[in-house]
Amino acid sequence: MKIKFLSLGSGSSGNCYYLGTEKNGILIDAGIGIRNVKKIFKDYKLDFSTIKAVFITHDHADHIKAVGNLGEKYGIPVFTTPEIHKGINKSYCVTEKLSTSVNFIKKEESVEVGDFKITAFEVPHDGTDNVGYCIEIDGKVFSFLTDLGHITETAAKYIKRADYLILEANYDDEMLAMGPYPKYLKERIAGPNGHMSNRETAEFLAENFQANLKYICSAI
Ligand SMILES: [Zn+2]
Repeated sequence: MKIKFLSLGSGSSGNCYYLGTEKNGILIDAGIGIRNVKKIFKDYKLDFSTIKAVFITHDHADHIKAVGNLGEKYGIPVFTTPEIHKGINKSYCVTEKLSTSVNFIKKEESVEVGDFKITAFEVPHDGTDNVGYCIEIDGKVFSFLTDLGHITETAAKYIKRADYLILEANYDDEMLAMGPYPKYLKERIAGPNGHMSNRETAEFLAENFQANLKYICSAI
């Protein structure tokens, strides 16, 4: 089975990933505008109508901007935990609130959508609730950990299972320390529920590399 993976956006300007087969696909996060999603799909000759679901990792603005539109206007089911759903509907950046498109999931319980088997798992970050996703397609395992402050035992378990890994490497320690951000923000970013530094991510991978890992995508 041919599998396509595409990063439509990552970092503070908006996060959105696509994973698809010939027949159907899913989005992980919806932090970029619909017009942008459609344009990128056209550029890559992908069919927007093959998107069967949107899975959300947490309710920070750069991950959910377009989720209301995708869910309610385009009728695409939105999957995430009840707490993240609550956070989405309280968020200032989501003008179209979720109602009919809502699908609740539980951490560590798999759901099946099209060709995909998807399992959400806990990650340490400072959204209302925070998950990573482990996605199995045709015997291949994709693990998504896009925003997390450190690697817990649970996170490590899913990183080690991955054939294809999307893992955050967010900042350079020295650049963050010397940079213009206020102290509270620097502390938030570097804290245990903030983001992974490039060094932390590299060290973890160097120590825990598994032979099955074929591809690493760094989420910034
Ligand atoms: Zn975040």
